[in-house]
Amino acid sequence: MINVPKFPPEYYDKSRQIFETSLKTLGAYRSWRAFDPGDSFSIDERYAALPALTKIDIRQHFPGGLVPADKDIEAGIASGEISYASTSGSSDAFRVTNIWNQKWWDASERASWKLNAHATKFATGEHHEAILVSALNTGPSSDAEDLPFEKRRLSRFLYLNEKTDVSRWTTALMNRMIDELDIFKPVVLEANPSVLAKLCRYAAAQNKKVFQPGLITLTYEFPSQLHYRQIKRVFSSPIASSYGSTETGYVFMQCEAGKFHQNTNFCRVDFQPLKPEHGGARIGRMLVTTFDNPWYYMLRFDVGDFAELDARQKCSCGRDAGYIVSAMEGRWTNVTLTCEGKLITLRRLDDAISALEDLDEYRLEQSAPGAYHLFLVSPRDDKDKLSKEAKEILKGIYGAEADVTITYEDFLKPEDSGKYALAKTLFPLSVANYLDFK
Ligand SMILES: [Zn+2]
Repeated sequence: MINVPKFPPEYYDKSRQIFETSLKTLGAYRSWRAFDPGDSFSIDERYAALPALTKIDIRQHFPGGLVPADKDIEAGIASGEISYASTSGSSDAFRVTNIWNQKWWDASERASWKLNAHATKFATGEHHEAILVSALNTGPSSDAEDLPFEKRRLSRFLYLNEKTDVSRWTTALMNRMIDELDIFKPVVLEANPSVLAKLCRYAAAQNKKVFQPGLITLTYEFPSQLHYRQIKRVFSSPIASSYGSTETGYVFMQCEAGKFHQNTNFCRVDFQPLKPEHGGARIGRMLVTTFDNPWYYMLRFDVGDFAELDARQKCSCGRDAGYIVSAMEGRWTNVTLTCEGKLITLRRLDDAISALEDLDEYRLEQSAPGAYHLFLVSPRDDKDKLSKEAKEILKGIYGAEADVTITYEDFLKPEDSGKYALAKTLFPLSVANYLDFK
């Protein structure tokens, strides 16, 4: 049983307005009218009857089918109100161009800060913020030569890294990052968890003292328990995971008590649960509808991630508007299957693998049903013992008959997108087979 979340009255007004404008006037949603059961049904029921918007749909209808006719795209671009923004292409998704509305994005971000006490205190909109991510995700990029401080300092932001492949960082570059944290003294450090974890492994091994920001926010990737452990060895700052996407803005923010709260002023979220045998009613796919972005209408956009709903829909922080999520479960493209074909989310795998001691990094590739290849990076000398422990963990999840191969590497490479995949199948899966459509 899951308690029903609470939504403010304007949430339903916005849901209705976006629904009607989209189905009545936008080309991308014209064919969805056939699914609408009509206004004798509740707005939640009408949403639930619609398909999901995919990146393929966005490409097919971009830009005119997603922008109201009274908005002049060329004029908006000329005035600087909007621009085109491409998301980094990765093996799991098509490269997609979106309409970027900076004003709306900033407002969505500010609203998300209210969902965490530390962000409320430290993030003023004027604060110094250091960003540590792959240059493929955002910020200045230069693999050939290192960029000086002033080339990476943009308004109130400092981009600590300019490399597209962080697996090749030099010690000089990592020393520079640690020095610059001390010089710039960011109030907030926004980081891609795998990238920050890499810097933290180095800082811990070298016994380096690192400047402590008021808040660390993790974005772009699923944060592994390994990442948390490595980051906490170096930073005592509070850590909050921020969840969103280029298409949808800020959707969930982790509060100071550790649960995720929906950014209800800026988006609607619809959950589609997994079938009982694949994870059950509390774990589901998230479809996001954006509010109040006059330039871009995202209706039930499939963000590609699963989340676990909090059963009681209550949090000790006292916030109660919108969905309360107890944990992010990882991307659909990072699921694997047991020997019996049951779905394993990345979080489930990660919780188990992270029990291994002194593990720097891992990636699990499932090449075929029942066949698993685990890549590990570890400074441990007793690799035979580590392999035995890892095999036991995987057989515990996937089945005693699982065929497990373990390979040790010096470092792991990120995907083409610049993000690290902790797990994936090397064969195609269809999400629809695992969802419980009622
Ligand atoms: Zn909370």
